[in-house]
Amino acid sequence: MAKIKYRFDPNTLTYKKINRTSRKNLLQALVFFSVSVLMAIAFNVFFTSNFTTPKEQRLQHKNESLEFKYDMLSRKISHVNEVLNKIEQRDDNLYRPIFELDPIPNQFREAGVGGVNRYNDLEKYSDSKTIISVARQLDKVKKKLYVQSRSFDAIKKEAENKEAMLAHIPAIQPIAIKDFGRISDYYGRRRDPFTGKIRMHHGMDFTGPVGTDIYATGDGVVVKAEFSAYGYGKEVVIDHGYGYKTIYAHLHQINVDKGDKVSRGEVIGTLGNTGRSTGPHLHYEVRKNNRPVDPFNYYFNDITADQYEKMIAVSARNRKPMD
Ligand SMILES: [Zn+2]
Repeated sequence: MAKIKYRFDPNTLTYKKINRTSRKNLLQALVFFSVSVLMAIAFNVFFTSNFTTPKEQRLQHKNESLEFKYDMLSRKISHVNEVLNKIEQRDDNLYRPIFELDPIPNQFREAGVGGVNRYNDLEKYSDSKTIISVARQLDKVKKKLYVQSRSFDAIKKEAENKEAMLAHIPAIQPIAIKDFGRISDYYGRRRDPFTGKIRMHHGMDFTGPVGTDIYATGDGVVVKAEFSAYGYGKEVVIDHGYGYKTIYAHLHQINVDKGDKVSRGEVIGTLGNTGRSTGPHLHYEVRKNNRPVDPFNYYFNDITADQYEKMIAVSARNRKPMD
């Protein structure tokens, strides 16, 4: 029931009933309602800007924690990148040069990962800048790791090749040190014992008792095992690959056949005095690309620098050509 309101009239000293129209009533109600709504909005703004709800607090914490994790991740990736940089430096300056491989150009190692739109999917998040930056870092490290692993593959292959090559290149003396008397003649020009004329000696001569074991000086295939028509007597020639061949001449006995595969240190025959020879000895030659080279440089597996010097000194003093 609506309240009836009165107004005091000082002239008549009576109370008079106030007649209010419904229009006025409606206007008052509207004003009241509007003020209430405005105050509600004001309070809401005030509280939300000065106080947070538990849900907001949880989200805020979660957000801070995520930011922290992204930061940590970014630091870890930077650390991985630093380690990777050091490996790359060693790779370019040490590992690759050992195997005669060129360094990998920096722009290739550092090249970005293709596609401008690669990170489009990550644009929709509020902190997309951080996410994209971390994703970029990760992609870069991944690319660098890939390049590095390919480089190591290449080095591994080279190392395996080198290992095979080292097994094939002549690297020991063809006769055991305990067995041979001495080196009677070495590589170089000297007087031919048969003609007395100055002539090039293309190998080294080792004297020793007839029947002394003669060894293959590197892995290879026997390409000749027969009596030579050129004064070499019973002769074995081994092809080692990589351009190398070794020749063993004046043998007493041949223990291998043409086509045989031989390994370094395997007995291929015995010391003798066959062919154009003045006494029991082994004539040994090393050929690189079919040109004779000094065998002295191919004993690195079983002779020290000191022994080498001594051998040269003795040989120089007591040179006695035998073929
Ligand atoms: Zn000789």
